[in-house]
Amino acid sequence: MPDKLIAEIENRRDALIALTQDLVRIPTQNPPGDNYLEICEYLANRLKKSGFQIEMVRAHGAPGDSDTYPRWNVVARREGNSLGECVHFNSHIDVVEVGRGWTTDPFGGALIDGKIYGRGTCDMKGGLAASIIAAEAFLAVTPTFSGAIEISGTADEESGGFGGVAYLAEKGFFSPSRVQHVIIPEPLNKDQICLGHRGVWWAEIETHGEIAHGSMPFLGDCAVRHMGAVMHEMERSLFPALAQKRTEMPVVPEGARQSTMNINSIHGGEPVQPEGYTGLPSPCVPDSCKMVIDRRFLIEENIDDVQQEIHQVLQTVQSQRPDFRYDIREIQRVLPTMTDKSAPVVQTVAQAIGQVLGRDPRYVVSPGSFDQKHIDRIGQLSNCIAYGPGILDLAHKPDEYVAVDDMIDSAKVMALALHQLLCPTAQTLD
Ligand SMILES: [Zn+2]
Repeated sequence: MPDKLIAEIENRRDALIALTQDLVRIPTQNPPGDNYLEICEYLANRLKKSGFQIEMVRAHGAPGDSDTYPRWNVVARREGNSLGECVHFNSHIDVVEVGRGWTTDPFGGALIDGKIYGRGTCDMKGGLAASIIAAEAFLAVTPTFSGAIEISGTADEESGGFGGVAYLAEKGFFSPSRVQHVIIPEPLNKDQICLGHRGVWWAEIETHGEIAHGSMPFLGDCAVRHMGAVMHEMERSLFPALAQKRTEMPVVPEGARQSTMNINSIHGGEPVQPEGYTGLPSPCVPDSCKMVIDRRFLIEENIDDVQQEIHQVLQTVQSQRPDFRYDIREIQRVLPTMTDKSAPVVQTVAQAIGQVLGRDPRYVVSPGSFDQKHIDRIGQLSNCIAYGPGILDLAHKPDEYVAVDDMIDSAKVMALALHQLLCPTAQTLD
């Protein structure tokens, strides 16, 4: 056990707390994408001090990018003394809206009983801070190493990552010739290694009708009733079939170890009037009804079959309702991904968890997707995991926090992983 490296992390407890607090105090809510430049500049200034070379990358033209809300990313790289592999820590800098129910200041970063509170502490500024402290400690005790360390802070993970990791991957930042190991410090608990995520298929279904006076609905055709028939058929045939599909992927929580579908929204007829409108609705037969579905699928499933199931529902309804007309439009697709347990980054982090926590890691898969999807698909790099401090259940909730001890432990794991991957001659540190 490289005791010197472990001690170096322990010595940086106050620095880790201060860094996490600083990051939380830069409010980076997304949408709309506040203060991305500010947080990237903060990270750049910090990492420059440890000899990192900085690249600031604005995702020009990405969804959400504008002069008011520019999509800034920072990529920092520290070269070693000889050629070798590159270990990349990728964290998203954005946080979700605050929401209601807070008893602490969401951007205060208060330290109470060993926990730092605030929006983004757990998801995932705590993980970002832990990876920076791990790299700084590693550099302080390792005069020579081979390869390189990269740390990136990227935009928009919470809204799909198109102005963040996807953009960087398109520009080659995650190509296998540049980066060989990727660790994403999302809050998956300090003793768990997240190998991947389920697939996503979002679509909008629209049923069509004919507008008419509401007092004579027989003169029109009600699109909402058609949608009701679609929902009925989903309840009858689709949901029971999805519940039967089980996966070998170790998805947590357990309930997500099957295919699922959520109906995100449904709307038909007259638009909702603005708050404060005191008039009555008008009597019309709705000529359109739209539903957005969110289908999560398994590595054992094929995207074509996933789509076909929905088409089958619509065709069944069509065979029963002569006037039934519909459109379906894909909104988003993400294929499932799962890094092999024998991949070097998995093996290395597993060993480091054993050294720091004295137990074997638990391997998990995320029910929802995160930036790994872009690294995998655009970057073509499969040696990627999510590993970081924090309890996933606290993400996006009021009074979100991260425990300082958990950050310290995962910083130790990250630092040991750096040592393992970048010091092939196994320098003795103790
Ligand atoms: Zn996150």
